[in-house]
Amino acid sequence: MDKTALNRIVSGVYVVGSTKDGRLNGQITNTLLRITADPVYVAISINKNNLTCDYIRASRVFSVSILSTSVPMTFIGLFGFKSGREVDKFTATGYRIGKTGAPIVIDHATAWLEARVTNEIECETHVIFIGKVEDCGTLSDAPVLTYEYYSTVMKGKSARNAPTYTPPEEKKTIAAEKKYACTVCGYIYDPEIGDPDHGIKPGTPFSDLPEDWTCPICGAHKSQFEPVV
Ligand code: FE
Repeated sequence: MDKTALNRIVSGVYVVGSTKDGRLNGQITNTLLRITADPVYVAISINKNNLTCDYIRASRVFSVSILSTSVPMTFIGLFGFKSGREVDKFTATGYRIGKTGAPIVIDHATAWLEARVTNEIECETHVIFIGKVEDCGTLSDAPVLTYEYYSTVMKGKSARNAPTYTPPEEKKTIAAEKKYACTVCGYIYDPEIGDPDHGIKPGTPFSDLPEDWTCPICGAHKSQFEPVV
């Protein structure tokens, strides 16, 4: 089975938000399906192990923010690669509470919707939530971020819990200075390239990176990197 065929499925990149007992959480998803025209129903797919799944199951509401191409990798790192069990993702993010009570992310979003869950279907690792849309709106006419743009132009990866996750290829290197892979998001630190966006010049070995350097995609600490062998 050639799973690269599945990369041809066109999807966007979205933030799903939900709430439980007054707490807020959200995560990135690539799965949003518009099911009906009027009334409007949509479906999303969320990994059972994710905190957002617990929140949606508890509150029966969710929001979806449709991201634009202006989104920085740090935002993807926060909502796509970090767990709400460890960080409060909404402290540094523009949002508002919708009429359903779900938090709606405004930052880097071109449009949004909020829905009440009417059905849920378990499918292996994921839960498909079907929701009736209670409200929706447009924020800007910025280009919509597609998963293809995210992976080919922004060089973004998928989190391990995502339906689009692909394990990183093992590569052999004979270079004196090894590449290191982020075990959280799959980002590869290449000493030849460095990390110029964060002041790391090309030619900087991984071992010379400052202690406070973190993965430019997901924010993981240096200790979460492993040499690429
Ligand atoms: Fe990372």
